[in-house]
Amino acid sequence: MATKLHTLRSLRVLSTRRYLSTTPNRASSASPTTQIFRDVPLLRQYRRSLLLSNRTVGLVPTMGALHEGHLSLVRQAAQENSDVFISIYVNPTQFGLNEDLDSYPKTWDADMAQLASLDASLASTPGAGRISAVFAPTTKAMYPTLPPDSSLPGRGSFVTITPVGSLLEGASRPVFFRGVATVCMKLFSICTPERVYFGQKDVQQTVVIRRLVRDFHLGTEVRIGATRREADGLAMSSRNVYLGARRRAVATVLSHALRRAEEQYAKGKRSRGDILWPANEHADRVAAEQEELAPGRRARFEVDYLSLADPDTMEEVEEVDEKRGAILSGAIKMMPVEEPQQGEDCGVGDGMIAVRLIDNIILKPVE
Ligand code: AMP
Repeated sequence: MATKLHTLRSLRVLSTRRYLSTTPNRASSASPTTQIFRDVPLLRQYRRSLLLSNRTVGLVPTMGALHEGHLSLVRQAAQENSDVFISIYVNPTQFGLNEDLDSYPKTWDADMAQLASLDASLASTPGAGRISAVFAPTTKAMYPTLPPDSSLPGRGSFVTITPVGSLLEGASRPVFFRGVATVCMKLFSICTPERVYFGQKDVQQTVVIRRLVRDFHLGTEVRIGATRREADGLAMSSRNVYLGARRRAVATVLSHALRRAEEQYAKGKRSRGDILWPANEHADRVAAEQEELAPGRRARFEVDYLSLADPDTMEEVEEVDEKRGAILSGAIKMMPVEEPQQGEDCGVGDGMIAVRLIDNIILKPVE
C-alpha cells in the first residue's frame, strides 16, 4: 500500500508540474489533492494507477459554470466512488451554428473555488471519495483529427442515437444530441469510469446516454441525480445568469406549468388532454399577462413544447400507461429584454441574449 501511495503521490507531482502551464488559469486549482488535466495521455496513466489500486472512478461531465446542480452530482459520485473526475468542456459540436457557444458562461476560477470547498468538506466526510481529477481538455485534444463541425451533416466522427435524439430538444436543436453522444463517448473512453453521473434536469439527455452505454457496451453504470431548484421552483441552470431580474421573475412559468400537469396525474387523470391542459393554460395566461404590460416592464417568452412522453423512447403518448409512467417536459425561450430601464439588472449579456430554459417532471409508475 505504501508503494502504491507513493506512486500516486509522484504521479500527482509529475502531472501537476507538466500541466500547470497549460491549465486555463495558473492561479486556480480545485484543491491540493485535485489534479487538472488538459490532455489525454497523463489522465489515462493516472486512471490506470487508480485501477491498479482498486479504486473506483465516478465521472461527472459538465460544461463548467458550476452551480448546486453540478455539485450535487459530485457529492453523489463521491458517495459511490473513491475518486471523482469532473470534466469541464464546452463542447462545440452540440451547439448549432446560430446558438450561444461563444457567449456560454465560462467561470473557471469560480468553478475551481467551488470544487475546492466541496473537496474540503468531502475530506471530513467519513467514507466519501475525493475529487481527484478535473479534466478540462483543449478542443484539439477532444477532436484530434478534424476541427469540430457543428453543421448538418457535419464532417468528422460522430455518434448518433436515433430516433430519441431527434425528438423534442433534438427537433429544436438538430445537432445537439449528436454532439452530446459524441463528446460523452470520448469522455467515457478516456476516463473509463465505473459510473457516470447526469442530472434529471436534462431528462432526454439521460435517455440518450443510457442508450449510448447500452448499445455500445460501454461498461459503465449510468446514475441520475435529482433536479436542483431555486426556492421558487426554477430549475438551476448555468444559463440562468443571463436572465436578469425581469425575466427571472417570469421564468418560473415553466416549472409551475409542469406542476399543474403533475397534479392532474396525481388526481388519477391519464389522458394526454386531461394532463396537459392546465399546463398549456397556465403558460398561455402568463404569456398574455406579459403581453399586456408596457415593453419596458414585460418579459416575453415563447413556448417551444410541452410534452407528455414515454420514459424510454421520449415519443409522445396519448394515454399514460400506469405501469410505465411518463415524462412531462417542456422548453421555453425567454426573449431578449425590451426597453431596459435605467439601472435595471438585465443579467449577463445585458438582456440581449434569448435564453432557452428546459425542465421536466417524472410521472412515476403506479404500484
Ligand atoms: P451542463 O454543465 O449544463 O452540461 O450540465 C452538466 C450536468 O449537470 C448534466 O448532467 C446536467 O443534467 C446536470 N445538471 C444541470 N443542471 C442541473 C440541476 N439543476 N440539477 C441537477 N443536475 C443538473
